[in-house]
Amino acid sequence: MFGLIGHLTDLAHAQEVAHDLGYDEYASQGLEFWCMAPPQAVDEISITSITGQVIHGTYIESCFLPEMLSGGKFKTASRKILNAMAHAQKQCLDITALGGFASIIFENFNLEKMTQVRDITLDLDRFTTGNTHTAYVICEQARRGASALGMDLARSQVAVIGATGDIGSAVCRWLSQRAGVEKLLLVARNQERLTNLQTQLGYGTLMTLEQALPVADVIIWVAALGQAMQVDPGILKTPCLIIDGGYPKNLQAAIQREGIYVLEGGIVEHALDINWKIKNFFRIANPTRRLFACFAESMLLEFEGLHTSYSWGRNQITPERMDEIGSLSRKHGFQPLGISS
Ligand code: NDP
Repeated sequence: MFGLIGHLTDLAHAQEVAHDLGYDEYASQGLEFWCMAPPQAVDEISITSITGQVIHGTYIESCFLPEMLSGGKFKTASRKILNAMAHAQKQCLDITALGGFASIIFENFNLEKMTQVRDITLDLDRFTTGNTHTAYVICEQARRGASALGMDLARSQVAVIGATGDIGSAVCRWLSQRAGVEKLLLVARNQERLTNLQTQLGYGTLMTLEQALPVADVIIWVAALGQAMQVDPGILKTPCLIIDGGYPKNLQAAIQREGIYVLEGGIVEHALDINWKIKNFFRIANPTRRLFACFAESMLLEFEGLHTSYSWGRNQITPERMDEIGSLSRKHGFQPLGISS
């Protein structure tokens, strides 16, 4: 059995979902209520590969909300993720993806030092961040998107916002080693980490967001932002391809301007309908078949009987591993979301 640990986009989203599920007494509650709420296994899922194989899984709602981070409730956020992982292990799930902020909280708050959750010792081999598949999907979206727009990716100025992150650094390595991108613009706040990345890659220009946005032909947005950013479309080049890969999405609503193409990054579409009720929680079009690539990674690992933390730690994702997970993704019927999807 596979597992998915997820969370909702914000408090308003959590209240809306509680109302839709008929829990009106929860729908009127504020952040404090969600800070107290324990994780819940809220859905049983089944999915059929295009090979005919059928697998089953469980979705665990962590009851974490991004406002807990912006409100400085780091202990609460950590407790939410550890409790959700313990809940997954108690349900005997063999491989579980840590969706959205779950893996970021695990890494950034050093939760590997806190793997004793009451009477459960977390077995980290049962968990994956899903970031290798997410990075593969985002790179494929950039490659196919650029080609569909008649852009030569190798000769384009490609800005990676969140370049030093787990997904961002994997994307940079792929752009350099697989796509031959010559002009790579590296954006993040911490200069030391940026310089280290530049040294590892052997090239790349360090830039601020304000410097990168007006000169980029392709923007790959994979920063960990608690809430979406507003970008003035007037400052962007045309044509400009934007892959919005964060969760919650890094950009506020799709930018409306001729010549600007915004793709929902890190989303895959399955060839067959997925049997799940939680699809209605996700703010994604056609959720019967579309899902976050990190969730799809735990499904791929379950299809293959690879019950191991395929993606773990920080900045270790190689283009070879992205090729490998990419071929499993295609084998089982997943496709990165394209421009015309
Ligand atoms: P990391 O925490 O590893 O990296 C985040 C990156 O964003 C760092 O480079 C960080 O650098 C940068 N960053 C944070 N804030 C800002 C800012 N204000 N301006 C510029 N850069 C910033 O995160 P991951 O790589 O694990 O995840 C990246 C995003 O992808 C997240 O939004 C996550 O939720 C999403 N995601 C999507 C998935 C999917 O299936 N579609 C799956 C998993 C993750 P610095 O702090 O120095 O600025």
